[in-house]
Amino acid sequence: MSAVLVVHGGAWAIPNDLAQASVEGVKAAACGGFAVLKAGGSALDAVEAAVMGLEDNGVFNAGHGAALNTDGEVELDSIIMDGRTLGCGAVSSVKNIAHPVSLARAVMEKTSHVMLTDRGANLFAESIGVATVPTEALVTELERTEWKKNKTYMAGVVEDFNAQWAHDTVGAVAVDRAGNVACATSTGGIRNKMVGRVGDSPVIGCGGYADNLSGAVSCTGHGESILKVTLARLILSHIEQGKSVAEASQLALQYMGDRVKGAGGAIVVSPSGQWSATFTTERMAWAAVEDGVLWYGLEPNERKKEQLSQ
Ligand code: ASP
Repeated sequence: MSAVLVVHGGAWAIPNDLAQASVEGVKAAACGGFAVLKAGGSALDAVEAAVMGLEDNGVFNAGHGAALNTDGEVELDSIIMDGRTLGCGAVSSVKNIAHPVSLARAVMEKTSHVMLTDRGANLFAESIGVATVPTEALVTELERTEWKKNKTYMAGVVEDFNAQWAHDTVGAVAVDRAGNVACATSTGGIRNKMVGRVGDSPVIGCGGYADNLSGAVSCTGHGESILKVTLARLILSHIEQGKSVAEASQLALQYMGDRVKGAGGAIVVSPSGQWSATFTTERMAWAAVEDGVLWYGLEPNERKKEQLSQ
């Protein structure tokens, strides 16, 4: 079977001045992740590579470019999950780490736990020799300016979410040639979040989930809403009941909108290689690679295509 990799760069009202860089960033990450699959790498290796690329790109709210909390600090959340075994690793509120997704993978592979948080996550990073980076190496000028503008976090003002608080979390899902699926999600959370606030991204079944029996999902959007409806798992349960990946995503996002007035987006792959990128926010940068073709979009219902050289 053919391998597929899909990435997103966050569902929100992406301003025009960030639009092109967001699209270029997801296209590059999708190609980078797909190269791992093409070389015979696993879905797990591919989603980690794609998300690492997005964490390095200051346009996105993950790793370098992360949103700041009310104290002006960077606290990062990430999850990775292996659909073969339901193995999962996550970190939340971790500081001074360039690639939280790789630390999440280390939690999965080197501990008997699923999630480490805050100081514990940093102590673990130190114990396995993960280098720290100074906070300022993760902070972009844009985020420092936004932090100064939004010093007061209006908790629960969902209406303002798209306009102000949302930001470009990143994620990837993949199916490899063996039919194994995986997901990864990484974020700095929402701008001017309370110190210690953890959103959906590192929470299993919310910001991501992967199961070879149904598919892999990475979510983005208003974290408090995604947590309330366990969005990733909700999408997979619709797939288990016979819906297509696109229908399942639409139904679950619609439910989140109706039930808790939350907006967001999700990328999904099934073990048979079906995939979708769906959102209820104004925009979501996404890209997918399958069969030598790069698909990408930003606006609702936009689906552009580029042939890749083999
Ligand atoms: N879901 C993320 C959070 O609430 C934000 C985002 O997706 O942009 O932390």
